[in-house]
Amino acid sequence: MINRMVPVIQLKDVDLAYVTDHAATLALQDMNLSVEDGELISLVGPSGCGKTTLLSLMAGLISPSRGLVLLHGKPVTGPTPEVGYMLQQDYLFPWRSIVDNVLLGLELTNRLTKQSAELAEELLEGMGLSGTAQLYPHQLSGGMRQRVALARTLATNPDLLLLDEPFSALDYQTKLQLEDLVVDTLKQRRKTGILVTHDLSEAIAVSDRVIVLGSKPGRIRSVFEVPKNIREALPFYAREEPGFNALFHEIWGELEASERRE
Ligand code: ADP
Ligand code: MG
Repeated sequence: MINRMVPVIQLKDVDLAYVTDHAATLALQDMNLSVEDGELISLVGPSGCGKTTLLSLMAGLISPSRGLVLLHGKPVTGPTPEVGYMLQQDYLFPWRSIVDNVLLGLELTNRLTKQSAELAEELLEGMGLSGTAQLYPHQLSGGMRQRVALARTLATNPDLLLLDEPFSALDYQTKLQLEDLVVDTLKQRRKTGILVTHDLSEAIAVSDRVIVLGSKPGRIRSVFEVPKNIREALPFYAREEPGFNALFHEIWGELEASERRE
């Protein structure tokens, strides 16, 4: 049984330095962050403040230079199926059918079974993509491809989903639809999510907490709890909830201050 008291992911006093032949960049300094089971948080901050680096640490793709990254209380030592990572670009393989793209993660972790094709169909149906299983990525729109990427991320049944600007390449209408779909899917499946976005209104509309990062070196500047009425509305309607604009302006001020310090 999952212990509800232990955070899903936790960073304790984390520094991350990128070291190359002739230089070292301190990308993150003194990061402390704890995300509870079922929470959806957003990371916002100027370009280069370490958002992607933070997700890479949580995904086990890189190791901290100092401090600890804990998944369910245990140090992260490398990529694990418990953590799903979805990127801005969908990275679907053009030569594989949609269903084979969805099953990729299961295939790579040797977990394909007789039921897998059925699971893929169900996931596609849940994403509003019935009937696309045998098509190829070039036959789908950008928004549909991102939904396939989401189905692929969910297929391995991760507890924690890391979403790095997954909507930023989409047109506005598609983006709003996908925000609702992602939030609804994560809440229904009781997944924990961490979303990186450069769109502040999206951050407030989708998440339980908004974390503002500052740069050089990257660190947490401030944390904003999203009020209950906004949290409980689907993103599309959250933007019309009382208090939304006031919170937007408050965090905007914080973001501007963060950019000015560069
Ligand atoms: P963000 O996603 O917030 O835009 P990143 O996490 O990509 O920021 O980058 C944080 C900092 O680390 C930047 O200064 C960037 O140039 C540097 N950086 C990112 N990846 C590498 C890398 N592989 N090698 C060296 N420096 C890197
Ligand atoms: Mg990034």
